[in-house]
Amino acid sequence: MLPEGDEDEDEENITTTATATGDAASDDELEQMSRKLGEMSPFVRQHLIHVENRFFDMFGDKEKQTININKFLTALAATGMRPSDPRLKETYTNLKKVQEKMASNDLQTLDTDYDTFMSIICENLEVLVKAFSSSFIIPDFRGFCHHLDQIYNSCKNNTNGKVASYIPQLARLKSEHWAVSVCTVDGQRYSNGDVNVPFTLQSCSKPLTYAMALGLNGTDTMHSYVGMEPSGRYFNELCLDYNNKPHNPMINAGAIMTAALVKPHLSAADRFDFIFNMYRRLAGDEFLGFNNAVFLSEKECADRNFALAYFMRENKCFPEGTRLHETLDFYFQLCSLEITAESGAVMAATLANGGINPLTGDPVLTVDAVRNTLTLMHSCGMYNYSGQFAFKVGLPSKSGVSGCVLLVIPNTMGICLWSPPLDNNGNSCRGVQFCMELVSRFNFHNFDNLRGQYTTKFDPRTVKAESNAQILFDLLFSTAAGDLSALRRHWLSATDMEAQDYDGRTALHVATSEGHEEIVEYLLIVCEVQPLPKDRWGRTPLDDAISFNHPCCANLIRESCNKKGIEVPSVSTNSILGVSQ
Ligand code: GLN
Repeated sequence: MLPEGDEDEDEENITTTATATGDAASDDELEQMSRKLGEMSPFVRQHLIHVENRFFDMFGDKEKQTININKFLTALAATGMRPSDPRLKETYTNLKKVQEKMASNDLQTLDTDYDTFMSIICENLEVLVKAFSSSFIIPDFRGFCHHLDQIYNSCKNNTNGKVASYIPQLARLKSEHWAVSVCTVDGQRYSNGDVNVPFTLQSCSKPLTYAMALGLNGTDTMHSYVGMEPSGRYFNELCLDYNNKPHNPMINAGAIMTAALVKPHLSAADRFDFIFNMYRRLAGDEFLGFNNAVFLSEKECADRNFALAYFMRENKCFPEGTRLHETLDFYFQLCSLEITAESGAVMAATLANGGINPLTGDPVLTVDAVRNTLTLMHSCGMYNYSGQFAFKVGLPSKSGVSGCVLLVIPNTMGICLWSPPLDNNGNSCRGVQFCMELVSRFNFHNFDNLRGQYTTKFDPRTVKAESNAQILFDLLFSTAAGDLSALRRHWLSATDMEAQDYDGRTALHVATSEGHEEIVEYLLIVCEVQPLPKDRWGRTPLDDAISFNHPCCANLIRESCNKKGIEVPSVSTNSILGVSQ
């Protein structure tokens, strides 16, 4: 449903009395908040003036010189951000404090003075600036949600399919359940239907466990045990490929093999703990459960999975020392992990975001693991419908017998669909219909953006007239904010990572000035930017690193110079900020 700021639960929780202006802002806590504002990085402060004007234009009352909090929260919800978003934690905590100080329970009429407003939001300024400068991946999020509502409703009428019945726990699922949840790579959320009802992941766990196993073992080791070829056979068929390996990790044999490769030296309990924690990080601490009844049922009705495991053992497929029964138990446990459509959407969004959870910033999976996973989801994720799905929808996805579909739009969003009735291929009927309708409206198909192609499809990602200057602004701002995930997106979207602003400043200059070591490393090693570009004052990133006292960044620059055979210069004496060497 559409995000509506004034109906959000967390806002309702903020209840105290009366309206007020900022006189109360002089006490200790508010002073402390203002101090935090003063501690902001030079780059953020440099842009603060524009940001302030913007906020004031949007929510301010020029005569009273106040900001209306309700207007601000409503506009914030319309960007797709939720009050529960961990990136807004400080803003909501500060807001509660201010409300208590002002003894105000009515957000509709709560006005604060300008300084108080800035002290409420200052710790989350980066993400708020992004939200309000249309820099999120889906700038018109409300418009996009209207489309999603329409597709949701159209699929609701689809009563085809049968609920899986091989175990009683699944057979009992109601066929009416229908949930759609979206999380973008910027953490914009949309949810409709039964999005908080838990269900088991079943085969949707396969790509996720595979991605984790890749991180543990590396691609070569993983694929010395499991192939990467669509099998063209049923997901649980008793067969191996020409190399005597299970065809791929998305079918049962391959997933059992993948389970065998996750921390095999740990005890069964520790393996479960490890994987549960990884899944929790994928979901950014949103709902994750374990359904013991499903686990026991799976184990009870697992003749085929046992047959597959014994068949693989007979063919010497497993690494030495694999404990077969323990491995199967582990596989059943993975199938029995519970999510909701909401937490599933965050997991899918983490894949869409190259392995970094968009809400928590946690680098859960490596980018290589995600790339491999998305590739196999694309070719093998929808059972015997995978080829047709790749043709018609053109997006990586994975379905499971509980009626779940995880759909990934790389660099854009993750979607979790859930509706138990399945078609003859074992895919959720409503889930597949949703995917089809989605790509008929939006140009999300992998090959929808070919050069010279004329399409009437809508691109919700198009920022109106996003100029190179805006892209550069976002690149430099994200760098200053230390937002590695935004930088990765720039890199994946072919942004020129060496681009210079009017003053000749590059992302590398900004990163070394701010001391963001991880970003300096990313720019030098992954993006391979030139280590010594000069700004208009002739200063290099090395000069900046030294001036602002970030020796680790300076060393990274020196290392890169050495690697590239570039002579490390003596430090320039030019200084834009009057900082002497
Ligand atoms: N637990 C099921 C099995 O291994 C999962 C299958 C599925 O979701 N397709 O048979």
